[in-house]
Amino acid sequence: MGHRVIVMVAALLAMLNPASAWAQSEAREVLEQAAEAMGGLERLQALDNVVYTGFGQRAYYQGGGNITGDPQAPMKWQQLVDVQRTFDFASGPWPGGRALYQERWGQEFPFAGFFGLNFERRTTMQLHRELLDHPLPALLAALHSSTTLGQFTQEDGLLVVPFTLSNGGTRAWLAIDPVTHLPRFSRWVSGHANLGDLTTTAWYSGYLPFAGVQLPMGLRQELDWRRTTNLMFQVDSYRVNVVPEHLPRFPLPMLAERTPPPQAQVTALAPGVWDVRVDGAGGPVMEFADRLVMFEAYGGGAQTLLRIDAANELVPGKRVEAVIVSHHHFDHTGGLRAAVSRGLEVISHRGNEGIIRDMATRPAMHFPDALARNPQVLQFTPVDDVLVLEDAMRRLEIYRVIEHGHMPDAVFAYLPAERLMMEGDLGDEAWQLHWWGSAYRANIAHRGIDPARNVAVHGTGALSIDETLANTRRQIAAAVQYCATAEGGGRYVMGCPVQYDVDGPVALVPR
Ligand SMILES: [Zn+2]
Repeated sequence: MGHRVIVMVAALLAMLNPASAWAQSEAREVLEQAAEAMGGLERLQALDNVVYTGFGQRAYYQGGGNITGDPQAPMKWQQLVDVQRTFDFASGPWPGGRALYQERWGQEFPFAGFFGLNFERRTTMQLHRELLDHPLPALLAALHSSTTLGQFTQEDGLLVVPFTLSNGGTRAWLAIDPVTHLPRFSRWVSGHANLGDLTTTAWYSGYLPFAGVQLPMGLRQELDWRRTTNLMFQVDSYRVNVVPEHLPRFPLPMLAERTPPPQAQVTALAPGVWDVRVDGAGGPVMEFADRLVMFEAYGGGAQTLLRIDAANELVPGKRVEAVIVSHHHFDHTGGLRAAVSRGLEVISHRGNEGIIRDMATRPAMHFPDALARNPQVLQFTPVDDVLVLEDAMRRLEIYRVIEHGHMPDAVFAYLPAERLMMEGDLGDEAWQLHWWGSAYRANIAHRGIDPARNVAVHGTGALSIDETLANTRRQIAAAVQYCATAEGGGRYVMGCPVQYDVDGPVALVPR
């Protein structure tokens, strides 16, 4: 009698709770069939390690680093070469083991720092959610006894099993092909400074057997933002159960270093004008009759909120109510959502309105940020060619940028009374190479303005225009030298030959 009651209660719970024992056992069956198709569950669970090598392309800034924010703008890619990924299932923590990811990368577009061009070999240790982008650790993690499975659904003819990892509660999905029973994609959600909750789908294709284990040769990742292809990767070898002497050494787990929390640095530039920056990036805050206006929402939510909070201390009774965004690149808009959460009006080139609206309206339910905690409607003010903010106290001229292929939809700003120019990515004292070095002079001449000082978003603060141009000349010379060295080695780099000196496009040579 008692037994029957328990069965009835369990059946009732099963109907009410989608993660019920019934649903779990059905989902487990789908996953166990996948394990069978990949080589057998016992075989997979007994693997010590799997190593793959290959090459590919990764989207720069998840598609947020293209020349404009237009969905039809050409993508910028990072080239990935000499990639080796080592899955350690024997000694790695569960679920899913651990991986050592090694790669060389270089930007396939003109880039201002050697670190983005030098193909130095870099190593990252990966755990937990970082292993969900390959079907083998993803399947082993989903089938682990500590993982909670949900009821499977169908999507485009695939069986999709939701699962939640015990470690940190990561939600993920694994899709199984009903004909081959092989994993077709895995999917997970992560938090993104510009895009809120970001869902990545990792697609698997071209399975081949390696020592009896079916593994995909094609890896491609797609984002739920504009269906951006985030990764294109071709495996060129798999090795199963490599002897330990041939494996790279995993680094010992390091204790997190205690770094002091970042602080906003405030420097007075002129009466009612301050430079406010955090960790070497920022821009001016300007006092108007009834409000403050800030330049750039750089870096991330925390960085931008630090700047806004510091600015709000500057003048009793006045608060930052608007932010000028120089261009859409994801480092320059990393604090956009935080700025909108404080109700700031956003002023930028009209071409950025679409991507800025995208950023300001995406949800962040799984990884709540400032905007999720304090939702605000975006107020966007476009700049076509010129926008002047002027009242009894101050005049600020906002101009669209010309002659700068890094960012065709950009603005800079100018305070005529203070002769102070402010800009993002026209240049930077820390840049090592400059590919668009005529932009300062071209924009100053085009507008007939007469700045004495310039404040770059990246850098230490205000520099004289002469210092700024001297830095630019040095960086142009380094880029010319870099192109010569690369060409000498038989390699032709994007951006070479350098097209600009500080005065404009260089003269063409017949060839
Ligand atoms: Zn940029």
